Amino acid sequence: MADHTRCGDYLVERVPIEEERQKLETEDVYTARITAQQTSRILQFASKSFPKLDGIEHVKRVRREAHESGDTLLVILCQCKMLDRDQLSARIRDTEWAALDIAVSKVPATPPYTKDQFDRWKAVWPVAYRPLVKLKQALFSADEKEYVHQCLRLAEELCKQCDMAGGRSVAAVIGNPQARRVVAQAIDATTVSGNPLRHAVMCCIAQVADYEVAREARMTQSQTPKLDATGPESNAAAPLKRAHSPCGAAEIDDRSGYLCEGMDVFSSREPCVMCTMALVHSRIGRLFFLDSNSGGGISQYSMHSHRQLNHHFACFKCTRAEDRASES
Ligand SMILES: [Zn+2]
Repeated sequence: MADHTRCGDYLVERVPIEEERQKLETEDVYTARITAQQTSRILQFASKSFPKLDGIEHVKRVRREAHESGDTLLVILCQCKMLDRDQLSARIRDTEWAALDIAVSKVPATPPYTKDQFDRWKAVWPVAYRPLVKLKQALFSADEKEYVHQCLRLAEELCKQCDMAGGRSVAAVIGNPQARRVVAQAIDATTVSGNPLRHAVMCCIAQVADYEVAREARMTQSQTPKLDATGPESNAAAPLKRAHSPCGAAEIDDRSGYLCEGMDVFSSREPCVMCTMALVHSRIGRLFFLDSNSGGGISQYSMHSHRQLNHHFACFKCTRAEDRASES
């Protein structure tokens, strides 16, 4: 993995997002070999006569090919999925382009998101490259490194309690990155509760939900107009003020009603698919986990960056620095 940061005892490495793992896929297009002087005229003809390119806007329309006898250009006419060869021929017949040398070429079907992909994609066909903003390396301030270190250590210490309680050894912590403090902490409670859904992450989210319910109740109470209120300054006209919950969840004031919006989750083990989906639904900002789980939501489905999910979050695989040193 490319980006890693030392946070106290831990090495924190960003888990690649789905797009970074994208393999090269190609799509067939009809191309015509032309001279440089014909370029603008054939592009005009193509835009009038063929369907617009759809979904391959990253692909450059023209590829230059060097020959001993001089350069020629390959220009994309349209995607093969839009027209079959007979339909294409019918649209060219009776035009000045009837004798065009037409072939089928392959172009990358998805945009390149990383420099490495760009280098491989452009060897197939010229493409535009715009790096994803969300790939920027995670920069941790000194304070934040200490906060990440403390939260990971707490998750590990909680994990030791699991061993004593006889349950599965998984613990989770939710942190508020703005206040840099712990908001919720839990160990796996499936054994003790007999409820197979009470995974550590689910228990943590439930704690935040409980705090939110209590906070909303306090807000409702504080909004009840007093009988002796007079004039425009009465409670009824006062703007809503968020009461700060004991967990600090309300300190993220620009949240839009999702339970853990912008929060950090620290887990001793990569969350399972159910827990990862719960993290997507509650709109966390970042996930840090220690042990990998081959059946987990990140390893198996890249759920932190899955194209078909409506929320993405940054994800970091964490290792004890001393373990890492002993491996190498
Ligand atoms: Zn789980």
